[in-house]
Amino acid sequence: MKVLVVGGGGREHALVWKISQSPRVERIFCAPGNAGIAQHAACVGIKAEDVAGLLDFARREGIDLTVVGPEAPLSAGIVDAFEAAGLRIFGPRQAAARLEASKVFAKELMLKYGVPTAEAAIFDAPADAIRYVRARGGPCVVKAEGLAAGKGVVVADDPAAAEAAIRHIMEEKAFGAAGERVLVEERLAGEEASVLAFTDGETVLPLLPAQDHKPVFDGDKGPNTGGMGAYAPAPAVTPALLKQIETEILLPVVRGLRAEGIVYKGVLYAGLMLTTAGPRVLEFNVRFGDPEAQPLLYLLRSDLVAVMEAVLAGKLGEVKLDWHPGAAVCVVLAAAGYPGSYRKGDVIEGLEDVPPDAMVFHAGTAVVDGKLVTAGGRVLGVTARGPDVRAAIARAYAAVAKIKFAGMHYRRDIGQKALART
Ligand code: ATP
Repeated sequence: MKVLVVGGGGREHALVWKISQSPRVERIFCAPGNAGIAQHAACVGIKAEDVAGLLDFARREGIDLTVVGPEAPLSAGIVDAFEAAGLRIFGPRQAAARLEASKVFAKELMLKYGVPTAEAAIFDAPADAIRYVRARGGPCVVKAEGLAAGKGVVVADDPAAAEAAIRHIMEEKAFGAAGERVLVEERLAGEEASVLAFTDGETVLPLLPAQDHKPVFDGDKGPNTGGMGAYAPAPAVTPALLKQIETEILLPVVRGLRAEGIVYKGVLYAGLMLTTAGPRVLEFNVRFGDPEAQPLLYLLRSDLVAVMEAVLAGKLGEVKLDWHPGAAVCVVLAAAGYPGSYRKGDVIEGLEDVPPDAMVFHAGTAVVDGKLVTAGGRVLGVTARGPDVRAAIARAYAAVAKIKFAGMHYRRDIGQKALART
């Protein structure tokens, strides 16, 4: 079959790499792709948000299955458009994608169906929100309702910081229409974890639990990024806890959506805080996380295309996921300046010296004048497996040591939280 993957980051490289191994796949395309993806797929110059252009391409090429990486096309309704044209596509429809696109929708759904999450108040006027944080006192978390590329959340130590965040989001309109409403949440404490699951709208099939590393510097210091690295499985989520997350969080959400007339098919991602009172949902994403996709797909032994076809056919109940033993770690190499404004065009060297027991997924890369150069904030995701997390960490960093570009920076503590538990 012919497969089209939509997107062009590290997550999409991992998807393309994994999908290209399926015996069911004859040809694979990626829009827009990147320099690493081009090694496994034909890259097509169509932007991930260009739903009409993608639909036109899929029709023309006779694509049998389209797999959507990022959230923007999902919330723009790419799945609805492809389905209306009779084309198979993996991902939730627009109505289900609201789980990520609207934090108010997600919060109200969780409240209605008893899913544990931070307490929150919702405001559409800045004066009301400010009055509330002052009266409430203490720390809180201010969140813009809509998509803000991970920047619409401010963890505030006191009411003054919360007020500044409210003004930034609602009065200065830093995120445009995404900040017309805000949530003010109780600030939770604990370790964070990401639990992703396949679902066909009925059955929920969790992947191994993972952990992201959002802040830019070691020890979770500095501003948040799209993610500086990830590993799986995360020992903080024990098998018993994973079962609890499945039955108390993932299943009630999928069933709740169904009760609202929304069948969720695709990957459902719960960003969780593991509090002393149990797991609490911080956010939902409606797709694979980036970078979590890299270690997860590198560890997955099952044929991903077969799993996706089972999701589309509503037969996920017949699937069991098969994993490589041990653990996988992904270390993100970022460009000078990231997560602020970053430099592009630095020549990347040393990839040919990376040992064969590591895999380098490309995120922001391009080929210019025959040379591989940086072309994004997150440049590469160096990923390795090992019999345990310690071995996977050692292999990933041994590979990182071979790679160079001007201004390259990365965290040196990816996976340390897992080691601290073992
Ligand atoms: P993403 O980039 O993952 O899409 P987002 O903008 O949707 O992020 P959230 O995941 O909701 O934002 O929050 C970002 C971070 O803020 C979380 O990873 C967590 O560290 C922190 N955070 C969010 N909500 C809370 C909360 N209620 N209590 C404490 N910390 C929180």
